[in-house]
Amino acid sequence: MIGIVVVSHSPRLAQAAVDLAVEMVGVNGPAIAIAAGAGAGVIGTDASKVAEAIAEVSSPEGVLVMMDLGSAVMSAEMALEFSDDPDLPVRLSSGPFVEGLMAAVVRAAGGATLDEVEREARGALRAKQIHLGDEDPAGLPVDSGPAAEHTIEVTLLNPDGLHARPVSMLVTAISAFEATVTVANLRTGRPPVPANSPTALLIVGARKGDTISVAAAGRQAVEALEAVSELVGKGFGELAAAHAPAPRPACSASRPQARPQARPQGGAPSSGPLGVSPGFAVGPIVRMQEPVDEPGPAVALPLRERAAAAERIVAAAASVALALRDKAARVSGAARGILEATALMAADPGLIDAAVSRVTGQGHTPERAVWAAVGEVTAVFKEQGGLLAERVSDLHDVRNRIVSELLGRPAPGLPDRVEPYVLVARDLAPADTALIDPTVCRAIVTVEGGPTSHTAILARALGLPAVVAARDAMDLPEGSVVIVDGTTGEIVVAPTDEQVLRAEEQIRRVITFDGAGRTRDGHRVQLLANVASPDSVAAAIEANAEGVGLFRTEFCFLDHAEAPGLDEQVAAYRRVFAGFPGKKVTIRTLDAGADKPLAFVTAADEVNPALGIRGYRTAWQRPELLDTQLQAIAAAAAAEDADVGVMAPMIATVDESVDFAARCAAHGLHNVGVMIETPAAAITAGPILERVDFASLGTNDLAQYTMAADRLMGELALLNDPWQPAVLRMIREACQAGLAAGKPVGVCGEAAADPMLAAILVGLGATSLSMSPRALGGVAEFLRGVTVDQCRDAALAAVAAGSADAARSAAALLLEPTRA
Ligand code: PEP
Ligand code: MG
Repeated sequence: MIGIVVVSHSPRLAQAAVDLAVEMVGVNGPAIAIAAGAGAGVIGTDASKVAEAIAEVSSPEGVLVMMDLGSAVMSAEMALEFSDDPDLPVRLSSGPFVEGLMAAVVRAAGGATLDEVEREARGALRAKQIHLGDEDPAGLPVDSGPAAEHTIEVTLLNPDGLHARPVSMLVTAISAFEATVTVANLRTGRPPVPANSPTALLIVGARKGDTISVAAAGRQAVEALEAVSELVGKGFGELAAAHAPAPRPACSASRPQARPQARPQGGAPSSGPLGVSPGFAVGPIVRMQEPVDEPGPAVALPLRERAAAAERIVAAAASVALALRDKAARVSGAARGILEATALMAADPGLIDAAVSRVTGQGHTPERAVWAAVGEVTAVFKEQGGLLAERVSDLHDVRNRIVSELLGRPAPGLPDRVEPYVLVARDLAPADTALIDPTVCRAIVTVEGGPTSHTAILARALGLPAVVAARDAMDLPEGSVVIVDGTTGEIVVAPTDEQVLRAEEQIRRVITFDGAGRTRDGHRVQLLANVASPDSVAAAIEANAEGVGLFRTEFCFLDHAEAPGLDEQVAAYRRVFAGFPGKKVTIRTLDAGADKPLAFVTAADEVNPALGIRGYRTAWQRPELLDTQLQAIAAAAAAEDADVGVMAPMIATVDESVDFAARCAAHGLHNVGVMIETPAAAITAGPILERVDFASLGTNDLAQYTMAADRLMGELALLNDPWQPAVLRMIREACQAGLAAGKPVGVCGEAAADPMLAAILVGLGATSLSMSPRALGGVAEFLRGVTVDQCRDAALAAVAAGSADAARSAAALLLEPTRA
């Protein structure tokens, strides 16, 4: 096989071009060496590097050198003069850099000679030129073969037609025969192209269902056609994946259970439907309109039409952004922020430019161009995983809206209903979830999503039961009645009358909290509310919360491009403090990063943001942000009557606690605490509590970090469970340190909202529990039914259990009987 050298001014450009070419041949390609850049990050070329690269891939069959522009050619020419091996056949290709390299790599992989490869690379633009109607496509005929002796017609079966991989397989297969083969797509009626040219084959644009005519001449013409026929018949090996059996059914038809469903013991936990927002709902299923179909592969637009087509993209994106901003103006709170953020994405100049250049440069239709431009960004997001992957649904939402606009269709979105219904969707974009009318939508069920996805957060804020990761939900028939249990994640299809009656009883059962948390024997436990923004204070007051145990300040500024000023912060904090005069309000300083990026704080390029610069760590780099915030908290606290405590998120060391306490003291803030949400903080809670006045357990993150399980991944929900004995032991460690120091240690993670777990937390020594306001009644009622000794016994048993399920069962055994 010949060797190939790639000479470019830019190492990144060279690597990207090589990656693209290698994608076509996998591991079976020729040796390739890159000579790019002039060293130390300088753009340029260097003849000695080219000479080294030629030596690296030299082979008796020869070396082909592909170059980008200008001095790359001169450097390559000079390199030939340095050569120690005057007999080594080296050819400098005048072929186009990207197309030529790709054609050369594929032909070389098929064992072609240096002459053949060089010819292929040189002519690599011809198919594009012919396709775009150039008068003189480099003077090269498209079909240079002799008259065909044999012809077959075959229909493409594989899902994506003749894309890069099948093209590569075809070229490689044909190269094994002494035959000249051409391919024509009968759908387009364009002239045949040589089947040994990957670029030409790609431009044939053959997709699933198209019939291609394959003609061959030469000694092994018949064998070559047989090989083609076999490859096409097997769908180029892509049929198996496309026909893979559907995943196991995940929705059950059984009656709701009082306890969470049985979970697999040992081994890797499997994920099923997850209840992410508690409550029962009964109603007929209404499916969310499926997103628009992917627009067909581009048939290139004529040059004269491209400017107008590009303009249509700009206009459609502007109109979508405007419609979203209009909707944002009609709602408030989190919904408003989310809609505004989605509008910003729709107007993103980077995205629009990328789509426009696909129209002007490649002649894509506007809808295809938008689809592809978004696809490029989402591919990167998916690869990065975690939080970025969760943004994919936002971008798809924007894409679908713009494509619908371009196609003149109504915007995809929520069903327009006045009768109650249960919404079933593949995935809900935040912009849609924010607009759900909770008076008609009774529950949300999605196929995708994790427990802390936007869907879950917003469903809880709307007070709607919600289930995510219900893999088969889209198969449920439209209009069929279901019972949804937002706690266990169970979906009962076609329930009996008795089941419906029982569920309706549950729905009617509104448990109110009298404003003083205590166990049956009078042990006081403060029951507080988690608050996300000034707008959510009303719900906390209405639910009779004893105060605020966690005010997540970062949620106030999710949509800010710049850091909020002092006055804006003072005003926001005062609104929350004013809701609880004389009562406890614990405000947390910005917890930016990971699942809650703030544009003005968070670096967008962290590989592993959950373990990166988040929480208190942002103050290492931006101490002025923390100081302004503490100044604002002090001013707001002085102006209102709340009993204000300040705490820092994501503390991992005693030093950070000391630093935080000192900064607070400098601003006259004295009731200072830290969150315990890293195993490090839990284990060193003793020394930490010597330096601060209180601690609050963030069990969401504590579970994530203890179990090494991403809290955003539905698949890991069984590991990411605060009932895991390892997590309970961490909590115990921190609570015991609090008891020893005589300082309060509360819980403000989601664990506090699980009534039975709340009793365990009390048994472990938690002095307060903070939760979403809707959970207060249920937790208060459960605690009223048990004594503190029962809580302690149950806590001991749960901590000693061998698994999360065993911990639940042990707790249920010790807590349930006396409640009956
Ligand atoms: C937690 O981690 O439990 C917590 C309360 O903080 P957040 O959910 O905001 O990360
Ligand atoms: Mg946290």
